[in-house]
Amino acid sequence: MISTKNPKRLIVILGDHLDYQRFLPADFDPSDDLFWMAEASEESTHVKSNKHRIVCFLSSMRHFRDHLESLRLPLAYHQLNEGGSSSTLSDYLEADLRKWKPETVRMTKPGDFRVESALAEIISRQGVRLQMVEDEHFLCSSEEFIQHAQGRKSLRLEFFYREMRRKHQILMDGDKPLGGDWNYDKDNRESFGKQGPPPSPSDRGSPPDSTTLEVIALVDRLFPDHPGDLSSFRWPVTPEDADAELDRFISDALPLYGRFQDAMWTREPTLFHSLISAPLNLRLLDPRDAVRKVEDAHLAGHAPLSAAEGFVRQVIGWREYVRGIYNWKMPDYRSDNFLGADQSLPEFFWTGESDMACMRSCLTQVLETGYGHHIQRLMVIGLYSLLRGIHPHEINDWFLASYVDAVDWVTTPNVIGMSQFADGGLMASKPYCATGAYVDRMSNYCKGCRYNPKESTGPNACPLTTLYWSFLDRHRETLSSNRRMSMQLRNLGRLKEDKLAEIRKAADCHLHQS
Ligand code: SF4
Repeated sequence: MISTKNPKRLIVILGDHLDYQRFLPADFDPSDDLFWMAEASEESTHVKSNKHRIVCFLSSMRHFRDHLESLRLPLAYHQLNEGGSSSTLSDYLEADLRKWKPETVRMTKPGDFRVESALAEIISRQGVRLQMVEDEHFLCSSEEFIQHAQGRKSLRLEFFYREMRRKHQILMDGDKPLGGDWNYDKDNRESFGKQGPPPSPSDRGSPPDSTTLEVIALVDRLFPDHPGDLSSFRWPVTPEDADAELDRFISDALPLYGRFQDAMWTREPTLFHSLISAPLNLRLLDPRDAVRKVEDAHLAGHAPLSAAEGFVRQVIGWREYVRGIYNWKMPDYRSDNFLGADQSLPEFFWTGESDMACMRSCLTQVLETGYGHHIQRLMVIGLYSLLRGIHPHEINDWFLASYVDAVDWVTTPNVIGMSQFADGGLMASKPYCATGAYVDRMSNYCKGCRYNPKESTGPNACPLTTLYWSFLDRHRETLSSNRRMSMQLRNLGRLKEDKLAEIRKAADCHLHQS
């Protein structure tokens, strides 16, 4: 519904700002304000997005549009061009600014610096005032994070996380952490052992409604060569779907979530994980509600403290922390490349065709479903990329394209900082590097692999193990000042020169053959 007179203010709602609780500004005036939303094809193609990710955004946007219309709020909505011609948010906005000549554009701070700078430029070029507002979905404002970060020699999640727990009184007993410890990470690292995982919840997700089915057909038609098998699409696209998924997680998965947070198993993509990161990142779910419900489940005796604490740490700790770093350090952060990694992304990242069982399993899963849990991301795909020396920019774009919950503020710190150590240690105190033995301990991938995780050279050498030693060898000098790397570098020093020469040759061979 658009009123006949020109709006004085456009209220831009971006595709990941679908906050049903906070979208209406306190000073909203229906006679002067117009909500503005646009489905731009560039948002699906600037990185070759997985179809699950595209459907998740578009269907959620259309449900949000329907919500605004049901409230009879004024809205201009540009639907994806079914003819297939490309479109950008900037083009749509510029045309509307020319047409309506509003005085102001109001926008919640975007979670992608690329979008923020493109729209800000258009708005400024049209001589329109930009009213940028803080994203109140988050518990920690950008300013509050900068106050926390400035003046510290190094940033560590743990200190930030404790501040958040105290400030928001989550899992607290007065000013002390519930149970006596802040962090039960040591209880979150069990593997499944030979017997495999206990039965995990099978009835996950929400069946697509008619709006989502329409979007699925559209995406299959417009983006036929993008990865993703939409026959399995069950991601939440409304607040009701998101609440239902959170409730299912709490009732069926939370009790074992903590223990098996880091474990992996073939053909078990979701295990005891929550599957709420996508609706959280689209703002369909409020992080405060999610952590309170999990806290309540623990207090009611339904789940151990280690499980509840592990979940809370991810939501009010890690998630807020990476967003704070993104807003603080962008735009330069995206170009960081501390280790000088210069390899291009191998083609098999787009097909999953690899004779490494761990990579095949994790890549196939994400290419088909848009999903992988954090250890599959960090300690298989991220680890391989780090050891191989793939350029951080290339691997960052691949992560942004591939995961259903990916938005630049999430992927860039997680990839550049955490997984690729490209920021030189701002986020992580050392590179997350390991041999194939780690994958062997935490999964059953190696049982079905032609390689042997214990071998670094020879016909059965595990590429992760070979590349691990070659990584340490390449970066020996750079990492020598990092005390947390001293044991790994000492072990490297024990390798005889002829063994190292064999490893270098094997690593070279792997790079050229895959
Ligand atoms: Fe992966 Fe190496 Fe294990 Fe094969 S042996 S699954 S490549 S870690």
